[in-house]
Amino acid sequence: MLYDRKITCPVCGSVFKARAIKKNSYRIIKKDPDFFIRYSRISPYFYDVWVCDECGYASIKTDFEKLSDYDADTIKEQLTPKWHKKNFPEVYDIDLAIQRYKLSLLNYYTINSKPSKKAMNYLKLAWMYRLKEDSKNEMNFLTQALDNLNSAYFNESFPMYGMNKFTAMYLIGELMRRTGAGEKSLIWFSQVITSTMASENIKDLARQQKNLVSNEVNENSINKQQKDKKKGLFNKFRI
Ligand SMILES: [Zn+2]
Repeated sequence: MLYDRKITCPVCGSVFKARAIKKNSYRIIKKDPDFFIRYSRISPYFYDVWVCDECGYASIKTDFEKLSDYDADTIKEQLTPKWHKKNFPEVYDIDLAIQRYKLSLLNYYTINSKPSKKAMNYLKLAWMYRLKEDSKNEMNFLTQALDNLNSAYFNESFPMYGMNKFTAMYLIGELMRRTGAGEKSLIWFSQVITSTMASENIKDLARQQKNLVSNEVNENSINKQQKDKKKGLFNKFRI
C-alpha cells in the first residue's frame, strides 16, 4: 500500500525518502460537514506531512517545495540547531501523524507562514483528534483553525487550498457551529445561501448546517423556557 518518493529538501539539500500511499489502497467511507474524510483501512492524512530528518524542516506536503530562500535560512538558523533525528518507522499511526502535524506547525510558526497555512494545519490536527475521539484537543485545534481561517479570509486572496471564497465562508460557519458559536455561524451560512455567485453544492451544505443550528438554537430556548417556568414554580412555593 506504501511506496517511497525521493524528495530533495529545500532547506539543507539532502535527498530523503517520503512515504506515500498508493491511490488504490484506500476508500472513502464518509465525509464530515467540515470536509474531514473518513477512509477505510489506511488514512492518507497519516502521510500528509513530509519531514526532512536531517535538518528538521517539515510541512504539509503541498507546501513543502514552496519555500523562499529567506525562509530556508530562518529554519537553518532557528530550528535545525535544536533538531534531533527521529528515525521515523516505515508505517505511521495516528499518534505519529499528530506528532508530524505538530512539527509542521512549528515550522509554519518559525517562518511566520500565512494564516491559511496554519488554519489548514490546525484543522487537520483537530481531525486527527476527532479520529482518536479526544474532543478536548479537537475543540482546541478547531478553535485555532477558525481564528486563522477568519484572518485568512479577510487578508488573503482566493483560491486557498482548493477553496473559493464561498467554501471558506461556509467552513468558517461550520467551525463556529462546532466550537459553540452557533448563533454567529448563522450569519455566515446565510451569506453563502443568499449569494448569487456561490455554487449550488456549497449552498446546499450551508442550508443543511443552518437548519441544524436553527434547531439547536430553538431547542436551547425551549429548554431555557421550561427551566424558567420551573424556577417560577419553585419561587412561588419558596422551595
Ligand atoms: Zn533538510
